[in-house]
Amino acid sequence: SVVENDVSSEKQVNEENTGKEGNQRVIKRSEIDNQIMEILLESDVSLDSADLITEKLKERMGKLKRRVDFYSVEDELKNVIKEIISENQNRFDILNPGKKPYIILFLGINGTGKTTTIAKLAYYLKNNGKKVVISASDTFRAGAIEQISILGKNIGVEVIKHDFKSDPASVAFDAIEHARARSLDYVLIDSAGRMQTNKNLLDEMKKIKRVSKPDLTLLVLDAMIGQDVIEQANTFAREINFDGIILTKLDTDSKGGAVISVSTEIKKPILFVGTGQNMDDIMPFDPDWYINKIFS
Ligand code: GDP
Repeated sequence: SVVENDVSSEKQVNEENTGKEGNQRVIKRSEIDNQIMEILLESDVSLDSADLITEKLKERMGKLKRRVDFYSVEDELKNVIKEIISENQNRFDILNPGKKPYIILFLGINGTGKTTTIAKLAYYLKNNGKKVVISASDTFRAGAIEQISILGKNIGVEVIKHDFKSDPASVAFDAIEHARARSLDYVLIDSAGRMQTNKNLLDEMKKIKRVSKPDLTLLVLDAMIGQDVIEQANTFAREINFDGIILTKLDTDSKGGAVISVSTEIKKPILFVGTGQNMDDIMPFDPDWYINKIFS
């Protein structure tokens, strides 16, 4: 085993502790497990993820020649978490997707920030010189069409809409036609957000996917719910597959468990993160940024 057993590691640490280097706080290797596990679970990291992190950490600490002090544990913990959250990231460049119009379908439960996120992403694309149209395909929630229309107007992006309760797939179809006719770069398709409890909505969503043939399907998840993101993501993965994730509300989630849980258990890239309520509060996910945020 790479980790020494408790007795020998304690002995080693105690010997080191009486050594010349003096006043650094020295941690017994046996303590690492418990303390790190506690910190991770308090940060709302899922149990499986916390297990994985402590295992990897033990492995790394076992290989370390230098003394096990508080700072080396923290450094190695950063390295382990960075490795985990970088694992499923890919080099896909959303600004150069290689197809026009590039069609993105958004999934997500109501309240996660899906509508806001679509507008933010439209704004981000527009600010990068792209031409975008939004399909108001959440025809189920009262107010959703109006909400996205107002946001679209504010950011100067056209929104294709039909009436409340109309067929969302046909709105998407029109938006795609609209984009083709005008040589636009992106079609962003909204969808209804209550699928777990409603078979019709689920069928409708499958139909939107069938009709619009999205190049990319993104699931919007709310980081504030911590490790519960896993259950939501698994439900969507089972019913209607997706390619990547946007995590919203990272500004309000100081603990950061959602990012780690998603990375270890869902194994899909996190493309963007939401960092506030304004239209420019969105950014491509950057593991280094995230590590700095949670360790600051
Ligand atoms: P939807 O029901 O999923 O379409 O959710 P909305 O887009 O209506 O958003 C629900 C609430 O979350 C709104 O008050 C948004 O302003 C807020 N919201 C969305 N994204 C973020 C974010 O990244 N940070 C914060 N703090 N709030 C957000």
